[in-house]
Amino acid sequence: MTSRRNFIKTTSFASAAMLINKSTSAKELPAEELTNQTNKPIVLSTWNFGLKANEAAWEILSKNGKAIDAVEAGVKIPEGDPTERSVGYGGRPDRDGRVTLDACIMDEQANIGSVAALEHIKHPISVARAVMEKTPHVMLVGDGALQFALSQGFKKENLLVEDSEKEWKEWLKNSNYKPIVNIENHDTIGMIALDANGDLSGACTTSGMAFKMHGRVGDSPIIGAGLYVDNEIGAATATGHGEEVIRIAGCHLVVELMRQGKTPEQACIEAVNRVVKLTANRKKNLKDIQVGFIALNKKGEYGSYCVQSGFNYAVHDSSGNKLINADSHLK
Ligand code: ASP
Repeated sequence: MTSRRNFIKTTSFASAAMLINKSTSAKELPAEELTNQTNKPIVLSTWNFGLKANEAAWEILSKNGKAIDAVEAGVKIPEGDPTERSVGYGGRPDRDGRVTLDACIMDEQANIGSVAALEHIKHPISVARAVMEKTPHVMLVGDGALQFALSQGFKKENLLVEDSEKEWKEWLKNSNYKPIVNIENHDTIGMIALDANGDLSGACTTSGMAFKMHGRVGDSPIIGAGLYVDNEIGAATATGHGEEVIRIAGCHLVVELMRQGKTPEQACIEAVNRVVKLTANRKKNLKDIQVGFIALNKKGEYGSYCVQSGFNYAVHDSSGNKLINADSHLK
């Protein structure tokens, strides 16, 4: 895939701040005008593959489609792309050479669905949606998730592409498992959207950390960790070391902070600060950790923050589609 380090010329963080300022000053306006000021529809997604994913989501959002349909369609783009090596088809395998996928989805009514350690299915997000819509459960894992997917008509496929297999064989020579920040052995697409109707939804999907232990599950399929949506408040999604995001119930935390009045950016900063603090308490090295959050509130204001520099995210609203470099705790 294209290098994430090779950032497309970005609109600076300032543009998100400008939007926030605009809306903050709108607080004095009568309710009706305030509603008109909501920046919708809008969609945000993690990393530079978010640009293409946003286009697919925008197709739906711009035609007054539902956020839940937009986020599913959006994240299916990198899932189906074999050159994207950290999501879906083409994702890097675990240490046993098996591509195991994690995904979850959440709609405006707090309906949720999730799959973890799912093999052989190109679009885990759609299986997660089927779990949400067609089962009494919220999460299926491993063989059970595969069995369910097959029963729903999903096709069993080989997801291990040649390049990933080669890389895995190279890795096997030393079998040194040490996740490295901001390189392509761990990335996720998390997408959150506010539709024209004012409803929020989100989706999150990944192949997880490359060469992970078989059975390892990160934050991405865990509602409250890798994704959370509260239709009264806002939505958040995460990328980076899933273990650290789970430790602070990251995205639920971000949404709750917005509920307490924080802007999306402030909420992301506070969640990252929590990661920083726990890392210090546990005497671990922060330099080995990356966590990034993006958040969107009910007014269409958005923000982000991460531990290390290098994380970026894509935002599509009526003014266009752009990539933004997230501000970071470590510079
Ligand atoms: N959060 C994902 C995981 O831990 C990976 C990533 O976003 O880099 O599985």
